Amino acid sequence: MYRLALLLVPFAATLFAEDRYDRLMRDILIFDAHIDTPRYFVDEGYRLKDEHPYYELDIPRMRKGRLGAVLFGIYAQPQDYPPERWLPRTLEVIDGLHTEVAANHADMEFAYTAADVERIHRSGKLAAMASLEGGHLIADSLGVLRIFHRLGVRYMTLAHFASNNFADSMTGIQLHSGLSKFGRELVREMNRIGMMIDVSHISDKAVLDAVEFSRAPVIASHSSVKAIAPIVRNMPDSVIEAIAKRGGVVCINFHAGYLDKPAYDVYFRNRQARDEEIKRVTDVQPVDWGKVRAIQRRYYEQMPKVDYKVLLRHIDHVAKLAGADHVALGSDFDGISGMAPVGMEDVSKYPILVKGLIDMGYSDSDIRKIMGLNILRVLRQAEEVAKKP
Ligand SMILES: [Zn+2]
Repeated sequence: MYRLALLLVPFAATLFAEDRYDRLMRDILIFDAHIDTPRYFVDEGYRLKDEHPYYELDIPRMRKGRLGAVLFGIYAQPQDYPPERWLPRTLEVIDGLHTEVAANHADMEFAYTAADVERIHRSGKLAAMASLEGGHLIADSLGVLRIFHRLGVRYMTLAHFASNNFADSMTGIQLHSGLSKFGRELVREMNRIGMMIDVSHISDKAVLDAVEFSRAPVIASHSSVKAIAPIVRNMPDSVIEAIAKRGGVVCINFHAGYLDKPAYDVYFRNRQARDEEIKRVTDVQPVDWGKVRAIQRRYYEQMPKVDYKVLLRHIDHVAKLAGADHVALGSDFDGISGMAPVGMEDVSKYPILVKGLIDMGYSDSDIRKIMGLNILRVLRQAEEVAKKP
């Protein structure tokens, strides 16, 4: 009898895990802090209602992956657009997002508050929110920032790949040794109106300044861990700890090259050649986007394969270092040129992370936080800070 019971233990453990997984998946809020699909609506007429064999988000795959909420990224990179196009381009992409959400109202709804996200999620739809990537997009005007907030923008990354008048980028010339005086004013205004401060892309010193000056916790909307993959775009432990100490959240970027250093080395070595090839295609109107995707695919194939379990290691690292309250998902899907890890190719795959976290010994409550509730909490804290001048 004893021997039989022993034989049944692993079987029972599997059953129990399945049970937990099913229970979690019934109502878990999966909230991704950074997905860059909207520019495809404008540039290519990409539509969310049908399933696509390319890109990383559409409604059928979103349903399969039980995705509940997304902060969609909107940007105009300085190298792609002249300064006079930054503001109109940003507005056009926000318009594209609002139009696409309205066209799919049976499946998604625009969310302006944390309460909206909860209500929309409960109704079985995806809650769509907007975010801006790069302070240069507000044309150095706090009035423009406030208008973007009215259009539904709920975080702004202080700088993108280049430094600007507010903050140093981690990949740009160091102009201010962190945040400028204007950058501090920007942080104060974002706190006052209830817009989250995003510290991805900015220099370590700029992150520490933002954490110090912000009255609300900050997010790193799509940043991975430097201790695992020592590359410039990732965050060192000391910065992760500083963000967490003030209640903030680091949302892990899924880019295979940011998760794994050998993959990054190949990506980095090839990047210029890839971008030049792509530019030769995009210089010809109308652009053949299929050709662009084929080029991206070819360069992706040259990278060593990175398994989705590496992504779980990044999540686990932040959870162990700073606590499960301070790590979340910021896939950067549709912003990573198809360079997703194997097993986590698009938004249909989030459930594999829930399974992975169960296997790694995380509690239901921690899994819910990591998969979505942490971002929701910081969003709510930003709203609360805005109510207290
Ligand atoms: Zn980015």
